[in-house]
Amino acid sequence: MVNYVLAAAARHQATAMLAELETHTPGAAQRLARSAFTELQTWPELTVDLVPETQTGSRCSVAGAYDFGPPALISVADAASPARRDFTALHELGHHFQKHSLDLMEAFESQSDGGLQLEDAACDAFAAEILLPTPLVDHHLDATGPTADTVADLWRAGAASRMAVCVRAVQRLPAPGHILLLDGSGRIAFAASHGLRPLRRGSFQGDIPVIDRARSSGRGRAQGRTQVRYRDGILGRELHAQTAPMGGYLVAVLVTDSAPWRRFTPPTKDTGPQAGDYLCAHCDEEYRSFDPACSACRVPHCPECGRCSCTPRVNEHLCPGCFIKHPPAMFADGSDRCLDCS
Ligand SMILES: [Zn+2]
Ligand SMILES: [Zn+2]
Ligand SMILES: [Zn+2]
Ligand SMILES: [Zn+2]
Repeated sequence: MVNYVLAAAARHQATAMLAELETHTPGAAQRLARSAFTELQTWPELTVDLVPETQTGSRCSVAGAYDFGPPALISVADAASPARRDFTALHELGHHFQKHSLDLMEAFESQSDGGLQLEDAACDAFAAEILLPTPLVDHHLDATGPTADTVADLWRAGAASRMAVCVRAVQRLPAPGHILLLDGSGRIAFAASHGLRPLRRGSFQGDIPVIDRARSSGRGRAQGRTQVRYRDGILGRELHAQTAPMGGYLVAVLVTDSAPWRRFTPPTKDTGPQAGDYLCAHCDEEYRSFDPACSACRVPHCPECGRCSCTPRVNEHLCPGCFIKHPPAMFADGSDRCLDCS
Protein backbone atom coordinates (compact mmCIF):
# COMPACT_ATOMS: atom_id res chain seq x y z
CA MET A 1 0.00 0.00 0.00
CA VAL A 2 1.54 3.25 -1.13
CA ASN A 3 1.45 6.15 1.28
CA TYR A 4 -0.14 8.69 -1.06
CA VAL A 5 1.12 12.21 -0.76
CA LEU A 6 -1.07 14.57 1.12
CA ALA A 7 -1.18 18.20 0.03
CA ALA A 8 -0.56 19.11 3.67
CA ALA A 9 2.77 17.23 3.73
CA ALA A 10 3.85 18.97 0.52
CA ARG A 11 2.94 22.35 1.95
CA HIS A 12 4.90 21.61 5.11
CA GLN A 13 7.93 20.75 2.99
CA ALA A 14 7.41 23.93 0.93
CA THR A 15 7.58 26.04 4.09
CA ALA A 16 10.99 24.54 4.89
CA MET A 17 12.08 25.21 1.29
CA LEU A 18 11.07 28.87 1.57
CA ALA A 19 13.21 29.17 4.73
CA GLU A 20 16.10 27.61 2.80
CA LEU A 21 15.56 30.11 -0.03
CA GLU A 22 15.69 33.05 2.40
CA THR A 23 18.96 31.77 3.90
CA HIS A 24 20.42 31.11 0.44
CA THR A 25 19.47 34.46 -1.16
CA PRO A 26 17.80 36.92 1.24
CA GLY A 27 14.92 38.80 -0.40
CA ALA A 28 14.81 36.52 -3.44
CA ALA A 29 11.23 35.39 -2.82
CA GLN A 30 9.86 38.87 -3.68
CA ARG A 31 11.91 39.10 -6.87
CA LEU A 32 10.90 35.56 -7.86
CA ALA A 33 7.23 36.49 -7.29
CA ARG A 34 7.59 39.39 -9.75
CA SER A 35 9.39 37.43 -12.46
CA ALA A 36 10.82 34.03 -11.59
CA PHE A 37 12.25 33.31 -15.01
CA THR A 38 14.18 36.60 -15.23
CA GLU A 39 15.44 36.40 -11.63
CA LEU A 40 16.74 32.83 -12.01
CA GLN A 41 18.72 33.75 -15.11
CA THR A 42 20.89 35.97 -12.86
CA TRP A 43 21.80 33.11 -10.49
CA PRO A 44 25.41 32.04 -11.23
CA GLU A 45 24.93 28.47 -9.98
CA LEU A 46 22.08 27.74 -12.44
CA THR A 47 21.55 27.62 -16.18
CA VAL A 48 17.93 28.28 -17.21
CA ASP A 49 16.91 27.24 -20.73
CA LEU A 50 13.79 27.37 -22.86
CA VAL A 51 13.29 24.06 -24.69
CA PRO A 52 10.52 22.46 -26.81
CA GLU A 53 7.86 20.82 -24.63
CA THR A 54 8.77 17.39 -26.04
CA GLN A 55 12.22 17.69 -24.44
CA THR A 56 10.95 18.26 -20.91
CA GLY A 57 10.06 14.63 -20.24
CA SER A 58 7.10 13.53 -18.15
CA ARG A 59 8.48 13.07 -14.66
CA CYS A 60 7.31 16.42 -13.35
CA SER A 61 3.75 17.67 -12.89
CA VAL A 62 4.78 20.60 -15.14
CA ALA A 63 6.40 20.90 -18.58
CA GLY A 64 9.89 21.41 -17.26
CA ALA A 65 12.93 19.46 -16.11
CA TYR A 66 15.80 19.70 -13.65
CA ASP A 67 19.29 18.31 -14.26
CA PHE A 68 21.51 18.09 -11.18
CA GLY A 69 24.62 18.74 -13.25
CA PRO A 70 27.09 20.18 -12.60
CA PRO A 71 26.30 22.68 -13.90
CA ALA A 72 22.73 22.57 -12.61
CA LEU A 73 20.22 23.05 -15.43
CA ILE A 74 16.58 24.13 -15.35
CA SER A 75 14.60 23.53 -18.57
CA VAL A 76 11.23 25.20 -19.18
CA ALA A 77 8.87 24.52 -22.12
CA ASP A 78 9.11 27.43 -24.55
CA ALA A 79 5.48 27.18 -25.66
CA ALA A 80 4.22 28.17 -22.23
CA SER A 81 2.69 31.53 -21.30
CA PRO A 82 4.83 33.84 -19.08
CA ALA A 83 2.77 32.90 -15.99
CA ARG A 84 3.16 29.18 -16.71
CA ARG A 85 6.89 29.60 -17.39
CA ASP A 86 7.35 31.27 -14.02
CA PHE A 87 5.43 28.52 -12.23
CA THR A 88 7.48 25.85 -14.04
CA ALA A 89 10.80 27.59 -13.32
CA LEU A 90 9.91 27.82 -9.61
CA HIS A 91 8.83 24.15 -9.57
CA GLU A 92 12.24 23.15 -10.97
CA LEU A 93 13.98 25.45 -8.50
CA GLY A 94 12.16 23.43 -5.86
CA HIS A 95 13.93 20.27 -7.12
CA HIS A 96 17.24 22.17 -6.99
CA PHE A 97 16.79 23.00 -3.29
CA GLN A 98 15.51 19.56 -2.31
CA LYS A 99 18.36 17.77 -4.08
CA HIS A 100 20.97 19.94 -2.38
CA SER A 101 19.73 19.95 1.21
CA LEU A 102 20.09 17.05 3.64
CA ASP A 103 17.54 18.71 5.93
CA LEU A 104 14.94 18.77 3.17
CA MET A 105 15.71 15.18 2.12
CA GLU A 106 14.87 13.96 5.62
CA ALA A 107 11.15 14.24 4.79
CA PHE A 108 11.55 11.56 2.11
CA GLU A 109 12.73 8.85 4.51
CA SER A 110 9.22 8.07 5.75
CA GLN A 111 7.83 7.76 2.20
CA SER A 112 7.36 4.28 0.74
CA ASP A 113 8.36 5.48 -2.76
CA GLY A 114 11.52 7.15 -1.46
CA GLY A 115 9.89 10.57 -1.60
CA LEU A 116 9.37 10.81 -5.39
CA GLN A 117 5.77 11.97 -5.15
CA LEU A 118 6.35 14.18 -2.11
CA GLU A 119 9.31 15.89 -3.78
CA ASP A 120 7.31 16.77 -6.87
CA ALA A 121 4.20 17.89 -4.94
CA ALA A 122 6.45 20.02 -2.69
CA CYS A 123 7.86 21.72 -5.82
CA ASP A 124 4.30 22.67 -6.81
CA ALA A 125 3.50 23.94 -3.31
CA PHE A 126 6.76 25.93 -3.17
CA ALA A 127 5.98 27.63 -6.52
CA ALA A 128 2.39 28.35 -5.49
CA GLU A 129 3.39 29.84 -2.12
CA ILE A 130 5.71 32.30 -3.87
CA LEU A 131 3.24 33.28 -6.61
CA LEU A 132 -0.07 33.42 -4.78
CA PRO A 133 -0.24 35.32 -1.48
CA THR A 134 -2.26 33.74 1.34
CA PRO A 135 -4.56 36.80 1.92
CA LEU A 136 -5.75 36.62 -1.70
CA VAL A 137 -6.37 32.86 -1.39
CA ASP A 138 -8.24 33.38 1.90
CA HIS A 139 -10.43 36.00 0.27
CA HIS A 140 -11.65 33.65 -2.46
CA LEU A 141 -11.67 30.19 -0.87
CA ASP A 142 -13.79 30.00 2.26
CA ALA A 143 -13.82 27.41 5.04
CA THR A 144 -16.15 24.98 3.23
CA GLY A 145 -13.45 24.49 0.56
CA PRO A 146 -13.06 25.31 -3.13
CA THR A 147 -15.77 24.96 -5.76
CA ALA A 148 -14.93 25.02 -9.49
CA ASP A 149 -16.19 28.60 -9.67
CA THR A 150 -14.23 29.93 -6.70
CA VAL A 151 -11.05 28.38 -8.14
CA ALA A 152 -11.71 30.13 -11.47
CA ASP A 153 -12.49 33.39 -9.61
CA LEU A 154 -9.19 33.20 -7.73
CA TRP A 155 -7.37 32.82 -11.04
CA ARG A 156 -9.16 35.85 -12.53
CA ALA A 157 -8.35 37.93 -9.43
CA GLY A 158 -4.56 37.53 -9.55
CA ALA A 159 -1.69 37.36 -11.95
CA ALA A 160 -0.68 33.81 -11.00
CA SER A 161 -0.85 30.86 -13.35
CA ARG A 162 -3.76 28.43 -13.36
CA MET A 163 -1.36 25.84 -11.93
CA ALA A 164 -0.52 27.94 -8.87
CA VAL A 165 -4.25 28.41 -8.30
CA CYS A 166 -4.88 24.64 -8.55
CA VAL A 167 -2.16 23.90 -5.96
CA ARG A 168 -3.50 26.50 -3.53
CA ALA A 169 -7.03 25.09 -4.00
CA VAL A 170 -6.04 21.45 -3.40
CA GLN A 171 -4.55 22.51 -0.04
CA ARG A 172 -8.08 23.57 0.99
CA LEU A 173 -10.03 20.47 -0.10
CA PRO A 174 -12.18 19.21 2.80
CA ALA A 175 -11.67 15.54 1.79
CA PRO A 176 -9.36 13.42 -0.39
CA GLY A 177 -9.57 14.48 -4.03
CA HIS A 178 -8.02 16.24 -7.01
CA ILE A 179 -7.99 19.63 -8.71
CA LEU A 180 -7.58 19.06 -12.45
CA LEU A 181 -6.77 21.51 -15.21
CA LEU A 182 -7.93 20.05 -18.54
CA ASP A 183 -7.06 21.37 -21.98
CA GLY A 184 -9.46 21.63 -24.91
CA SER A 185 -8.84 18.02 -25.93
CA GLY A 186 -9.74 16.67 -22.47
CA ARG A 187 -6.18 15.88 -21.41
CA ILE A 188 -4.73 16.81 -18.04
CA ALA A 189 -2.57 19.92 -18.42
CA PHE A 190 -1.94 19.88 -14.68
CA ALA A 191 -3.16 17.89 -11.69
CA ALA A 192 -2.89 18.49 -7.95
CA SER A 193 -3.92 15.70 -5.58
CA HIS A 194 -4.71 15.38 -1.90
CA GLY A 195 -4.80 11.98 -0.23
CA LEU A 196 -5.43 10.05 -3.46
CA ARG A 197 -3.03 8.52 -5.95
CA PRO A 198 -1.81 11.43 -8.15
CA LEU A 199 -2.92 11.66 -11.78
CA ARG A 200 -0.43 12.02 -14.61
CA ARG A 201 -0.05 15.10 -16.76
CA GLY A 202 -1.18 14.28 -20.29
CA SER A 203 -3.65 11.53 -19.36
CA PHE A 204 -7.00 11.68 -21.18
CA GLN A 205 -10.11 12.26 -19.06
CA GLY A 206 -12.30 13.93 -21.70
CA ASP A 207 -14.82 11.08 -21.98
CA ILE A 208 -15.57 10.30 -18.34
CA PRO A 209 -18.97 11.44 -17.03
CA VAL A 210 -19.26 15.09 -15.90
CA ILE A 211 -16.07 16.09 -17.80
CA ASP A 212 -17.62 14.76 -21.01
CA ARG A 213 -20.83 16.67 -20.35
CA ALA A 214 -18.98 19.87 -19.44
CA ARG A 215 -17.09 19.71 -22.73
CA SER A 216 -20.00 18.74 -24.97
CA SER A 217 -22.34 21.34 -23.48
CA GLY A 218 -20.02 24.10 -24.64
CA ARG A 219 -20.55 25.89 -21.32
CA GLY A 220 -17.84 24.09 -19.37
CA ARG A 221 -20.18 23.63 -16.43
CA ALA A 222 -21.36 20.31 -15.02
CA GLN A 223 -21.50 18.48 -11.74
CA GLY A 224 -22.18 14.97 -10.53
CA ARG A 225 -20.23 11.79 -9.91
CA THR A 226 -17.44 10.23 -11.90
CA GLN A 227 -14.35 8.05 -11.73
CA VAL A 228 -11.01 9.39 -13.02
CA ARG A 229 -8.84 7.25 -15.26
CA TYR A 230 -5.30 6.30 -14.29
CA ARG A 231 -2.54 5.66 -16.80
CA ASP A 232 -3.05 1.91 -16.79
CA GLY A 233 -6.70 2.45 -17.75
CA ILE A 234 -8.02 1.52 -14.32
CA LEU A 235 -10.77 3.74 -12.99
CA GLY A 236 -10.39 5.18 -9.49
CA ARG A 237 -13.13 5.32 -6.89
CA GLU A 238 -16.22 7.33 -7.57
CA LEU A 239 -15.82 11.04 -6.76
CA HIS A 240 -18.11 14.05 -6.56
CA ALA A 241 -17.07 16.41 -9.35
CA GLN A 242 -17.77 19.95 -10.45
CA THR A 243 -16.32 21.86 -13.41
CA ALA A 244 -16.06 25.47 -14.59
CA PRO A 245 -14.38 27.18 -17.55
CA MET A 246 -11.03 28.84 -16.81
CA GLY A 247 -9.64 30.88 -19.70
CA GLY A 248 -9.72 28.26 -22.45
CA TYR A 249 -9.21 25.41 -19.99
CA LEU A 250 -11.59 23.49 -17.78
CA VAL A 251 -11.04 23.29 -14.05
CA ALA A 252 -12.48 20.27 -12.23
CA VAL A 253 -12.76 19.86 -8.47
CA LEU A 254 -13.19 16.22 -7.36
CA VAL A 255 -13.69 14.92 -3.80
CA THR A 256 -14.65 11.66 -2.11
CA ASP A 257 -16.86 13.45 0.36
CA SER A 258 -18.05 16.81 1.77
CA ALA A 259 -18.32 18.42 -1.67
CA PRO A 260 -18.33 22.19 -1.00
CA TRP A 261 -20.98 22.82 -3.68
CA ARG A 262 -23.49 20.36 -2.24
CA ARG A 263 -25.77 20.78 0.74
CA PHE A 264 -25.56 17.07 1.50
CA THR A 265 -23.07 14.49 0.25
CA PRO A 266 -24.36 10.92 0.62
CA PRO A 267 -21.81 8.12 1.04
CA THR A 268 -20.62 6.59 -2.20
CA LYS A 269 -21.82 3.07 -2.88
CA ASP A 270 -19.02 0.91 -4.22
CA THR A 271 -20.75 -2.45 -4.68
CA GLY A 272 -24.22 -3.83 -5.27
CA PRO A 273 -26.62 -3.63 -8.17
CA GLN A 274 -25.99 -1.30 -11.07
CA ALA A 275 -27.37 2.15 -10.52
CA GLY A 276 -29.00 4.15 -13.29
CA ASP A 277 -27.47 7.41 -14.51
CA TYR A 278 -29.66 10.51 -14.37
CA LEU A 279 -29.41 14.21 -15.07
CA CYS A 280 -31.53 16.41 -12.81
CA ALA A 281 -33.84 18.71 -14.75
CA HIS A 282 -33.89 21.22 -11.91
CA CYS A 283 -30.36 21.68 -10.56
CA ASP A 284 -28.26 20.13 -13.36
CA GLU A 285 -26.73 17.50 -11.05
CA GLU A 286 -25.58 14.32 -12.82
CA TYR A 287 -26.20 11.40 -10.46
CA ARG A 288 -26.58 7.68 -10.03
CA SER A 289 -29.44 6.31 -8.02
CA PHE A 290 -30.53 2.95 -6.66
CA ASP A 291 -33.77 4.45 -5.41
CA PRO A 292 -37.16 3.53 -6.85
CA ALA A 293 -38.17 5.93 -9.59
CA CYS A 294 -41.07 8.33 -9.29
CA SER A 295 -44.21 6.59 -10.61
CA ALA A 296 -45.16 9.63 -12.68
CA CYS A 297 -41.90 10.64 -14.41
CA ARG A 298 -39.86 7.43 -13.84
CA VAL A 299 -36.89 9.40 -12.52
CA PRO A 300 -35.61 8.77 -8.99
CA HIS A 301 -35.18 11.77 -6.71
CA CYS A 302 -32.03 13.86 -7.16
CA PRO A 303 -29.63 13.53 -4.19
CA GLU A 304 -28.82 17.23 -4.40
CA CYS A 305 -32.19 19.01 -4.62
CA GLY A 306 -34.46 16.09 -3.76
CA ARG A 307 -36.66 16.49 -6.82
CA CYS A 308 -37.64 14.12 -9.63
CA SER A 309 -38.43 15.34 -13.13
CA CYS A 310 -42.03 16.28 -12.28
CA THR A 311 -42.96 19.95 -12.29
CA PRO A 312 -43.47 21.01 -8.65
CA ARG A 313 -47.08 21.80 -7.72
CA VAL A 314 -46.43 23.38 -4.33
CA ASN A 315 -44.11 26.11 -3.16
CA GLU A 316 -41.49 24.44 -1.05
CA HIS A 317 -39.68 26.18 1.79
CA LEU A 318 -36.15 25.53 2.89
CA CYS A 319 -36.05 24.58 6.57
CA PRO A 320 -33.05 26.26 8.29
CA GLY A 321 -32.91 23.38 10.78
CA CYS A 322 -32.43 20.41 8.48
CA PHE A 323 -31.69 22.26 5.21
CA ILE A 324 -34.36 20.23 3.43
CA LYS A 325 -37.08 21.76 1.23
CA HIS A 326 -40.51 20.74 2.49
CA PRO A 327 -44.05 21.44 1.28
CA PRO A 328 -46.04 24.07 3.27
CA ALA A 329 -47.87 21.31 5.18
CA MET A 330 -44.62 20.48 6.97
CA PHE A 331 -44.54 23.89 8.68
CA ALA A 332 -46.73 24.91 11.63
CA ASP A 333 -48.29 28.39 11.33
CA GLY A 334 -45.72 31.12 11.80
CA SER A 335 -42.78 28.72 12.17
CA ASP A 336 -39.83 28.79 9.80
CA ARG A 337 -38.74 25.34 11.00
CA CYS A 338 -40.31 22.14 9.76
CA LEU A 339 -42.34 19.79 11.97
CA ASP A 340 -39.38 17.41 12.20
CA CYS A 341 -37.13 20.13 13.56
CA SER A 342 -39.44 22.20 15.80
ZN1 LIG B 1 9.07 18.07 -10.76
ZN1 LIG C 1 -31.46 18.21 -8.53
ZN1 LIG D 1 -41.66 12.53 -10.78
ZN1 LIG E 1 -36.32 20.68 9.24
